Amino acid sequence: MKATDFNMQQSLQFMPQQGLLKLGDSRVIVMGTEAMGALYQELFNVGDLIATQVVMRRFGEANGRERARMVKAAMQPDDQMEWLSFGPTLHAWEGLGLPKLAALEHDAATKKFRLLVEFKGSYLAEQYMRVMGAANEPVCWQLAGYIAGYCSEIFGMDMHCRETKCVAKGDPHCEFDTRPRGEWL
Ligand SMILES: [Zn+2]
Repeated sequence: MKATDFNMQQSLQFMPQQGLLKLGDSRVIVMGTEAMGALYQELFNVGDLIATQVVMRRFGEANGRERARMVKAAMQPDDQMEWLSFGPTLHAWEGLGLPKLAALEHDAATKKFRLLVEFKGSYLAEQYMRVMGAANEPVCWQLAGYIAGYCSEIFGMDMHCRETKCVAKGDPHCEFDTRPRGEWL
């Protein structure tokens, strides 16, 4: 299947008699976004900024890797680029926000990779501002982790994604820059 043909209304399997909702073979849940705001607040209460960033980023990365495997198994994309295209498509259908691919460079031979995504309406920025107020730096760590995990799974490289703009700190949209981890060091 092509990402442009994906329709979540047709792909979700509702099984309320068993208390299940599935996308492909993956069990998914519908959860209110305010719970994520509460999670941000709790993490800040029990930890600190760095600990919160690490937990949210790793949570997102596990989510991104799992979603990439689900897409490969259930949607059978033709190639890596089609597989990659399902990432923003899923984000939009899941209501996380509206991503737009702003730049992509990939050379398998030299292992060069760079993905720039502009992301409008991040629910994480919205929830962060609801519970914490305006931020001084980007706060959508779970989305950054998701993008890194999703790309790492597709390209078999250890990717790191940095959020370079964020609505929570007053930018018009969030922006995510993904490269092989070694390039950031
Ligand atoms: Zn953001």
